Order: sequence, then C-alpha cells, then structure tokens
Amino acid sequence: MKILVTGGAGYIGSIVVEELVQEGEEVVVFDNLLFGHREAVHPAATFVFGDLADRAAVHDLFESHRFDAVMHFASHTLVGESMRKPFLYLGANVTNALNLLQEAVDHGVRRFILSSTANLFDRPERIPITEEERIVPGSPYGESKFIIERFLHWLDRIYGFRYAALRYFNAAGASPTGERGEDHNPETHLIPRVLQVALGQREKITIFGDDYPTRDGTPVRDYIHVTDLAQAHILALRALDEGSRTYNLGNGQGFTVREVIEVAREVTGHPIPAEVGPRRPGDPAVLIASSEKIRRELGWEPRYPDLRTIIEHAWQWHRTHPYGYASTGESG
Ligand code: UDP
Repeated sequence: MKILVTGGAGYIGSIVVEELVQEGEEVVVFDNLLFGHREAVHPAATFVFGDLADRAAVHDLFESHRFDAVMHFASHTLVGESMRKPFLYLGANVTNALNLLQEAVDHGVRRFILSSTANLFDRPERIPITEEERIVPGSPYGESKFIIERFLHWLDRIYGFRYAALRYFNAAGASPTGERGEDHNPETHLIPRVLQVALGQREKITIFGDDYPTRDGTPVRDYIHVTDLAQAHILALRALDEGSRTYNLGNGQGFTVREVIEVAREVTGHPIPAEVGPRRPGDPAVLIASSEKIRRELGWEPRYPDLRTIIEHAWQWHRTHPYGYASTGESG
C-alpha cells in the first residue's frame, strides 16, 4: 500500500513510519518540521515538506501520488497550551484536518487513521475507560480531536470513508532500535523530563501536586510504549475495509508520578531529586485505558507492557541523544 503519513517527522508519526517501512509499505511523509525533525524520517520514506494549512500544497500532494490510505498525526498536541490558545487548536487543528479530508475524499482515498486522545475523557465515570465512556473533552485540544472524529463519522456515512480513531493515553518510550525517540522543545512530558534530571540537564523534577485521591497522592496515568502504539495503527489499517472503528489505547495499568520517578531512578542509577509543586490546571487524577476492544477485535497485544522496559528504551534514546536529533549533528 502507498500510505501518506502527516506529521511523520514527529515523535509518534516517525515511529509509525519506521514500523510501516519494516512491513514493506510505501510511505510518503508530509510535515512542516515545526515540531518534527527531518532526521526522524526513515530514509526509505519519501519526504515532502509542507503545511496542511496550505490547501494548494495538499492538493498537489494528492495529485502527485495515488494513496491507498492516510495516517494523520500532524497536529498541535499540548493540552495546557490549548487552554491559552483556543483559536489555534479549534482553528488550525480542525481546518488542517479538513483540508486533508477534503483532498482525500476528492481523490478517492477511503482509508484514514486519526491519532486521537484520552483528553476526550475529562471526567471518567469508570476506570479503566472503555469506548462507551461519556465524551467530555478536557480542553480545546481534546475538543479539536472530537470534532475531527465527528467529521469522520459523517464521511463514513456519506462516502463510505473508512476510518479508525485511536485514542492514545500516555505515549512513552522510544524505538527499540534506538534511532527514534521523543524530542520536544520545550519538553512538557513526565518521562523525558525525569530523564533530563538524570542527564544533568535539569536540577530536579517537580511533581505537579500530591493531594490527588490516589495511592500516593500523585496522578495515575497509563503509559503505553510508542512501538505498541505504532503496531495498533498497522492492525487498524489492515482491518479498515471491514468497517470504521474507534479504540482506546493504553496498557490497562496505571502508575503514579512517584512510581514513574522511582522506576527511572532504578533504570538510570541517578537519585533524581523531586519536589512537590502546585497542581497543573486541567490534570485529572486517574486516566487508565481499557484496551479490551482492540485486543478482542484486532488481537492487539502490547510487546512492551512493563513500565521498566518503556523507561529503559526512553533512557537508551535520551542517553545517546541528549539534545535529541540535534545530537546527530544535524538539526530539524
Ligand atoms: N507531571 C509532573 N511533573 C512534570 C511533568 C508532568 O508531575 O514535570 C505529571 C502530570 O501532572 C501528569 C503526569 O505527570 O499527572 C503525566 O504528564 P504528561 O505531561 O507526561 O502527560 P499527560 O498525562 O498530561 O498527557
């Protein structure tokens, strides 16, 4: 298959591209390199520099290639930032996706995979969170993904457009090949920040609140290895012709912030000093996915379910790339 991957130079997108290439698929990456890195793109993939806001460029892209499927990762993805920039998230995230969808529909492409988010579940009534849970977006970011999911629902009904919406919980770790990993600037995520302390780039880690109703007072999250996430995309792609589908994607197991820090201390051998600071606005206490549905329907099984392995792979990446892709001598 020939697959268009938007955002294929980013953290999750680049690792999905790596897996697709390993499975013998033909991949075209479209990325504006705002958050992505050129060196993250697997050399076997074709790279096209461009922005989804540029409708003419998206049109040209579909005129130049006959895609069998689209995977859409290119997005603004920060919950906190979206609370400060609602127009960016509800504007750009949505209109960029619509440009892409319009061109896909116009060019007869009928297979689409959306990276969606656990931020649709701001006030879950049941843990682990199933696909039946009531949707309550926690931010303009979550709302933007929900709007795109609704578009997909209607495109399926009207055009037979087959889609999979994959709602990620906490993507973490790095490619086991050691070649691709997380490189955000600024870094906001817990595991890379904790590892920055171990690298001596950060003095200590601040725990955002320890007065949550959890076993040690710090929030519980479901950390899923990025390669397992990538595999879920490939399984979903293969199943698309049997119908559209929506899955929650996590490990089904939750860890507190303190537990993550403790495992990182064991993995790195560094004391990783921690202090407690105020809560980060918008953080729910507990987010754990039920991935029963994707396990049952697609036979998905995480290869790296242990938090320790996830942190070991992240550590291997950060240790060998202390400045991310810039460590390789080129910058993105
Ligand atoms: N967190 C923290 N200190 C940090 C970064 C994150 O205590 O420097 C906490 C954050 O409050 C959340 C968890 O770690 O409970 C995971 O945060 P992250 O930003 O990695 O992912 P999110 O769950 O927000 O998508």
